[in-house]
Amino acid sequence: MVNNGEGPSQDAPGDLERVRELLNTWLVPNDTRRPTDLFDAYADRHGIPPDERAALRALRDDLRAAVEREPGAEERVTEWIGRLGVGVAVTGGALAFRHPGGPAAGTLGTVLEAVALGRWPRMKACPDCRWVFYDSTRNAGKRWCLMTAGGPDGRSCGSIAKVRRHRRKHATGTAP
Ligand SMILES: [Zn+2]
Repeated sequence: MVNNGEGPSQDAPGDLERVRELLNTWLVPNDTRRPTDLFDAYADRHGIPPDERAALRALRDDLRAAVEREPGAEERVTEWIGRLGVGVAVTGGALAFRHPGGPAAGTLGTVLEAVALGRWPRMKACPDCRWVFYDSTRNAGKRWCLMTAGGPDGRSCGSIAKVRRHRRKHATGTAP
């Protein structure tokens, strides 16, 4: 599975990119189509203390659900605010999020900041491979990621749906 490098970057701005990396520790690779959890390797790589891993993984799952627009997911994310002791302050005319430290609280603080800045809705999960990307297009209308299975010549995400749409359009002769 590779990013074929077309179009704008799918990285998120600032610290939000670290959240995106965490969310993508759960994925359905295009080549195998099997759900895969790489959280342990991620936690090892980032030196996440053993007693913080369960919370961070559970938060990841709820944040992923929110990105995938699952019903009830935003309520679950909201519950984490109290659970992790994240507070809000006004500083320099902007909202700042304070937390007692730790990877889960830090992650949530970054997410809340993105919500406050209107960036969170641009975090999207590809309906094809479920990979989370940041939609930096002007109208935020991007749906699929730029992944391609088996190299740049392989099947790319959304291609089946795009072909269907193309055929439908040409069969009926209607404008897009
Ligand atoms: Zn994809």
